[in-house]
Amino acid sequence: MRAKTYISVILPLKLEWEPCYSIPEEISPEDVVIGDRVKVMFANKPYSGVVSAVGICPDTAASKIKDIEDIENGLERILQDEIELWRRVSEYYLCTIGEVYKAAYPVSKINLEEAHAASLAKSRARKERLLDSMRLKVERIKERLRKKEELESKAKEGTKTKVKLGEEAAKLRQELATAAEALEAAERNSAAENCSHTAEAPGPENSIILSEAQKDAERQIQEAFKAKKPVLLNGITGSGKTEIYIKCAHEAIRKGGNVLYLVPEIALSRQLEDRLSEHFGERLLVFHSAETAASRRSTAEIMRSGHGYIVLGTRSSLFLPHHDLRLIIVDEEHDSSYKQDSPAPRYNGRDTALMLSQIHGCNILLGSATPSLEELYNCGCGRHVLVALKERYHGTEDSDIEIIDTKAERRKRGMCGNFSRKLISHIQNALNNGEQVMILRSRRAWAPSMQCDECGEIPKCPHCNVSMSLHKSGGQEVMLCHYCGKQLPYTGKCPKCSGALKPLGAGTQKIEEEVAALFPQARIARLDRDTAQNKSFETQTIREFGKGNIDILIGTQMLTKGFDFGGLSLVVVITADTFLGIQDFRADEKALQTLEQFRGRCGRRGRKGLFVIQTSQPEHPVYSMIGTERASGADMSLLQERKDFDFPPYTRIIEISIRDRFEDRAERHASELAQSLRGRFDVTGPYAPVVDKVADQHIRVMRISMKKDRNLSMNKKALTRIVQEFEKKRKYEGHLTINVDPA
Ligand code: ADP
Ligand code: ZN
Ligand code: ZN
Repeated sequence: MRAKTYISVILPLKLEWEPCYSIPEEISPEDVVIGDRVKVMFANKPYSGVVSAVGICPDTAASKIKDIEDIENGLERILQDEIELWRRVSEYYLCTIGEVYKAAYPVSKINLEEAHAASLAKSRARKERLLDSMRLKVERIKERLRKKEELESKAKEGTKTKVKLGEEAAKLRQELATAAEALEAAERNSAAENCSHTAEAPGPENSIILSEAQKDAERQIQEAFKAKKPVLLNGITGSGKTEIYIKCAHEAIRKGGNVLYLVPEIALSRQLEDRLSEHFGERLLVFHSAETAASRRSTAEIMRSGHGYIVLGTRSSLFLPHHDLRLIIVDEEHDSSYKQDSPAPRYNGRDTALMLSQIHGCNILLGSATPSLEELYNCGCGRHVLVALKERYHGTEDSDIEIIDTKAERRKRGMCGNFSRKLISHIQNALNNGEQVMILRSRRAWAPSMQCDECGEIPKCPHCNVSMSLHKSGGQEVMLCHYCGKQLPYTGKCPKCSGALKPLGAGTQKIEEEVAALFPQARIARLDRDTAQNKSFETQTIREFGKGNIDILIGTQMLTKGFDFGGLSLVVVITADTFLGIQDFRADEKALQTLEQFRGRCGRRGRKGLFVIQTSQPEHPVYSMIGTERASGADMSLLQERKDFDFPPYTRIIEISIRDRFEDRAERHASELAQSLRGRFDVTGPYAPVVDKVADQHIRVMRISMKKDRNLSMNKKALTRIVQEFEKKRKYEGHLTINVDPA
């Protein structure tokens, strides 16, 4: 009998360690390599893990170490660089490597890999075996779902159990859908032969002719790349940053490398997709959660064997099997949608892209018209290189800004619903000239809340501490909670006294109604999270607006992201007040970015645009910062403020949240934990956040700020240790989350 070989394995779990397994007799130790996927049992459950080390010295008694069940031959080997990224992400964001693995290879992805493996399997027998096990899986899920649905139908109406069973059934349905899709794909492909992908020749490279200013910027970028420095391209809106990205991407591909092009949101990737495919044709691979699973699989597959491609994707594409990466582009780097809030890893796509570029030793180009203060700080201390582009490609001047004081207008009877007469005439003018209009309202729904005329009651969600909003669609009226999704029928009557409910405020649906009444001739569309649920509708709307087939587009923040629409001449914020006065040190920075970005959507093709802001606080300092030179005036004063108050980027903030069904317990544990951290760290809180109950969980939050010095990573580890000890001592696992660099 030969001596056992021991390996450590990463499991897709919140586990502080990488458990040790041994290799059974029938498998040769030479066949097991770091990155291999292995089937193992852990706590009596089967998992698909990743080998992270081979030939280790176990620190537990040999008799307690289990053999692995099998090598998952069907699944691709994980690259060492991928594991390295997981490690860095887990260290930086204070989560386990298993949580990162789980995010990088979610179960649905594994299912699809299996499907693919089945189609490629050489021997018929093996193919059949794989297909069989997939069929069995589908049957098992079906059975579990059937049982769940039976229980659900028996449970009493309105009980928590019923709700819970409903949710579980929904989850199973989803699981079933992915498994069935995988099976279907496998059956379809089972005849298909292995084919290797090499993208075709690049598109018309020379179709881009950069302007002098752009050329100059590109030269500076290439120089910084030579010096191995990350670059921040701060180009005003409409300066043609995208063209520069395309140029740099071509350059990287020409030299035999691959490119990753990150965008903060899917909506943005749709417009870019059209633009990039003109240049890169088959070489362009699109990757985000709304792509069909099959197309995501084929992306990963092409990447493994291919060369000279460009991946366009949202943050999750950071975890694809990258190799020969030569350039990473982070478009709209300031955008807070890059940050994942839940579940762990709570990572920021921009900062993780920087880690990825270090691992691959590749170039990274971050771009924005309104850079994050973090990036300006990085440039300020010489770590990154700032390249500025201050001219619009089409030479258009900045759009004019007009601020309309809604309080004053109301006094003068100058308001018509939510529209001032001044604004109405601006819109009418634009329409008369055949130009397009975009209207931003940051709240979706018809009315963000309602109030009883008799007793003053504001109906709240039964599970969350927020008011219900009123939605109207397809002739139906419902009350909806934007936090947990709870829906209740709308009767128009107060739940307390049966008095009449009246809507408070106006959301995008109401604004759309008003616009339709004011401009009956205009072609109108709306874009917000409600309409965007239908992805093809969203894509269609963006394309149609781009073609000029829609006159007025109404929507939420989605509209402010880097779109390029030629015929747009007027952009409007209906109630800008919602962007102000949020209690957060980033509030002004974010408000300024949103407004500035939105302003940049218009006046992009030679015609000067107009930006109208309706607000009841016209004297707010943020408004006077719009249009001041970036990277000098406004930003520097915001940076100074951060420095004076010891806020990021001068310090690191780590947020700890507690969620508990019982409010008093949340409160008690939060103060106890804060107390034990106080000895060592600078702690603010615990406090109740603005929305302090969501889905029946009471929330308490505390924020720890840490100096960015040599001891930072040691301090972060110490913090994690204290939190873990607290969880164990109080048997409080599952209630705490740690969020590094909260958005
Ligand atoms: P930004 O991303 O900086 O806001 P874009 O890249 O969207 O700006 O460019 C604004 C507009 O100018 C786009 O319609 C783009 O096609 C056009 N443009 C920019 N640079 C060039 C160029 N070198 N050649 C042709 N068109 C350009
Ligand atoms: Zn009432
Ligand atoms: Zn709710």
